[in-house]
Amino acid sequence: MSAKILDGVALGKTIRAEVAVAVGRLSGNGGKPGLAAVLVGEDPASAVYVRSKGKACEEAGMHSVTVRLPADASEAELLDTVDRLNADPRIHGILVQLPLPKHINSEKVLRRIDPTKDVDGFHPINVGKLVIGDKTAFRPATPYGVQQMLIRSGIETKGAHAVVVGRSNIVGRPMANLLIQDGPGGNATVTVCHSRTRDLPAVTRGADILVAAIGKPEFITADMIRPGAVVIDVGINRVDDASVPKGYRLVGDVAYAPVAEVASAITPVPGGVGPMTIAMLLQNTLQAMEQMER
Ligand code: NDP
Repeated sequence: MSAKILDGVALGKTIRAEVAVAVGRLSGNGGKPGLAAVLVGEDPASAVYVRSKGKACEEAGMHSVTVRLPADASEAELLDTVDRLNADPRIHGILVQLPLPKHINSEKVLRRIDPTKDVDGFHPINVGKLVIGDKTAFRPATPYGVQQMLIRSGIETKGAHAVVVGRSNIVGRPMANLLIQDGPGGNATVTVCHSRTRDLPAVTRGADILVAAIGKPEFITADMIRPGAVVIDVGINRVDDASVPKGYRLVGDVAYAPVAEVASAITPVPGGVGPMTIAMLLQNTLQAMEQMER
């Protein structure tokens, strides 16, 4: 078997174009959604993410602001920045790029973001809303992107056994919560695995849909996959590769080539879940403005 490749670049582009149309309609009424990204320090990967988020915003006709603070900025300075953005009427969505420097309490900062502007969906209010199925919740962009990918690729989740490997607040837990909701892209029977799961391969082999969000390069191997399963690879890992000028390449949490021989559909890395994440962040910013205007 050779798996169908789920193309996140194309799907992400479609969603961004849909958002741009909706933004165009809103702008006709005098306003446009605004997203503020706060970047503390010089982490190169974070800087790349923030730049691409800003670019995607502008392409969708949104207002975009990046606030850069030095790596030694105090927690109080960051909280002040969040307060200022909370009060700014041109800003509908705020994201604080993680990870933050060690001297800053990330939980405290994330809780300071006005829940109505929390487009990353990490504030406990939005986490709670997601768990109880409240439609005004902001769904964390990465699992939301995975769900959209499943829906738009015609992959039926209803009644399927979905296995999520990883239980982080950013990916694994919200992914599981989305998959058990009643509605499109939901109604799955979900198993969540983590580092203490006993006999992980036995569990993953029971999956109709496997979502890997582990952070370990090529950890999921072909013998862990049921033939015909759908495999979604959230992982983004750098591995050394002397044969390329950069000296490294990106790989997912799934051993792509052998798993693609067994699965019915698979996401590549890069070009799978990553581009969906940015598209869903724009969608959430649009949602924030629409909910504020209601
Ligand atoms: P975390 O490190 O926060 O979580 C990793 C999870 O994997 C943990 O729950 C951990 O279990 C589990 N895990 C680790 N080792 C094993 C193991 N041997 N067996 C089973 N489970 C294990 O990572 P994130 O969720 O933040 O990210 C996961 C991956 O996704 C990373 O590669 C990251 O770069 C990528 N990512 C990609 C995004 C995108 O846009 N495509 C966005 C966000 C993340 P335990 O809790 O027990 O420690």
